[in-house]
Amino acid sequence: MNRRNFFKKGSLVALGTTLLHPFSSLASEVGYDMTDYNKKAKNIIVIVSDGMSIGTLNMADLYLSRKTGTGSNWLDLYKKNKVSRALMDMASASSIVTDSAAASSSWGGGVRIKNGGLNVGESGEVYLPIWQKFKMSGKKAGCVTSVPITHATPAGFCVNSKSRNAQEEIAEKYLELKFDVMMGGGDDYFSSDKRKDKKDMYQEFTSKGYQVVHTRHDMMSSETDKPILGVFDDGGLPYALDRQNSKELVQNIPTLAEMTQKAIDVMKDHSKGFVLQVEAGKVDWAAHGNDIAGLIHDQIDHDEAIQVAMDFAEQDGETLVIITTDHGNANPGVIYGSDANDNFDSIQNYKHTNEWILNGIGKETSISQIKERINYANNIALTNEECQQLLDYYKDIPTAKGLYNPRHLPFNLLAQMQKPHNSVGWISMQHSADYVELAMYGPGSHLLKPFIKNTDLHYLMLEAAEIQNTF
Ligand SMILES: [Zn+2]
Repeated sequence: MNRRNFFKKGSLVALGTTLLHPFSSLASEVGYDMTDYNKKAKNIIVIVSDGMSIGTLNMADLYLSRKTGTGSNWLDLYKKNKVSRALMDMASASSIVTDSAAASSSWGGGVRIKNGGLNVGESGEVYLPIWQKFKMSGKKAGCVTSVPITHATPAGFCVNSKSRNAQEEIAEKYLELKFDVMMGGGDDYFSSDKRKDKKDMYQEFTSKGYQVVHTRHDMMSSETDKPILGVFDDGGLPYALDRQNSKELVQNIPTLAEMTQKAIDVMKDHSKGFVLQVEAGKVDWAAHGNDIAGLIHDQIDHDEAIQVAMDFAEQDGETLVIITTDHGNANPGVIYGSDANDNFDSIQNYKHTNEWILNGIGKETSISQIKERINYANNIALTNEECQQLLDYYKDIPTAKGLYNPRHLPFNLLAQMQKPHNSVGWISMQHSADYVELAMYGPGSHLLKPFIKNTDLHYLMLEAAEIQNTF
């Protein structure tokens, strides 16, 4: 045990109540929860909104405040003084602008690596990922996400891989390492029809004792005493707003909050505790697409998962909750103007994301059909010229597959056309180097300093759980 832990467990407790009392009563007035400070974290829940610029956090809170009178759960933790808070420098070994793989590896392996890899250094050195460290110390470990479960952010806590793109291999590594709950999208990397080696990964998971589920209903009714693999879509899950406006999707696809609740239920009774990563991965995808409705509603989806984690942690008293993002993306914000309030509030009437709008257009679509589609989705009337400009992009649209916008749909152009109507601007369609927001609740949260490096978080988690780093 290191000196700090000795102090924490020994002398501070030994000081007794006399000395601590003045602090405790003062603390309770301002809302600090002093009682958790001397405990070790039995469980850790890390909730990541992927690619969340500070403007995204702001807009989700503003949106909710103006629509419902109540802001976001994340900001409520600040308003009620319930969390420790810091800024975190997310630079990778190759750039001040990180990608999700290097970002997750900095937390996962405790070392900065180059963009694109997962816990593998320049000369092939491997850094043991933190969920493996916790597994070795007897805890259960899992991840849930709104993008493929084999994607960079969950993978960075779980495996070593030279490339984040090796998602078929990553699926196999999850099985070898026997993580307890893995849920999200990613059928493309598990299904025998789609994998290059034709291996049926579902069969392999089943034969190792996993419950394999593909629908919300099956997830909800699955047992809590067996490990679970949930894969609910080909790639990423649908955007929260598109799901809300489709009966079929509501029935079949769980929300991030529902997956989080299930993961907690499966792991919470384990005597040695559990660690869980929750990722709102499509916040990042929406930012890449300058897709305001996708962005705000998936950030709200993330926010509802925060509430699930907090409800559990507040009752449990032994759970450290870490809420953060891995980098900024596109840095959106509401822009000054006489109609800014009304324009921003008009987003409350959006029925679908820009992804839904643009994927429903083809080269055969007419100008009036485009007009109608956008009017239906956003309640705005574009001009014929604007609709023609959009249509021009579809003349020779590629069918290629790829990570972000493989079909080269006119996301940027549509966002520019929406801007006079919703007052939202974006600086780019890419990640940014901004220091990111980081909040912590529960035992171990007092270890957080106001400004940290991404790699510090790795060691903070181990220290909070009193796990010796002797791996
Ligand atoms: Zn990311």
